Amino acid sequence: MAVFTGTTRGGSEWTPEFIESINHKNCIGCGRCYKVCPRDVFELVERDEIEDLEEGGEDWEEDGFDDDVVYVMSIADKEDCIGCAACSRVCPKDCHSHATLEIAA
Ligand code: SF4
Ligand code: SF4
Repeated sequence: MAVFTGTTRGGSEWTPEFIESINHKNCIGCGRCYKVCPRDVFELVERDEIEDLEEGGEDWEEDGFDDDVVYVMSIADKEDCIGCAACSRVCPKDCHSHATLEIAA
């Protein structure tokens, strides 16, 4: 296996880092990643929807999660990501995790 890479216009090697997950506990729903993303990767969802989807259905209020925050960012279409990592650069809470893409050598 090899890591998928591309090049800049000037010919320098560039390795895309694709979105893997969002830390919903840290997300404040500011929408910065949604605005900067050049693809249709993200969507804002109600926090309750995420709680229902996440394994074990954690009680975030007991963890001190701010109940005033109604929305959190979610990944709507991971497959549309181009690996630019712009979302990570604008997030004030360091919520995004990325990974390189393994391809057959
Ligand atoms: S890495 Fe780029 S394309 Fe992928 S989700 Fe983040 S901003 Fe969007
Ligand atoms: S930039 Fe970070 S804190 Fe703001 S909505 Fe996106 S993931 Fe949440």
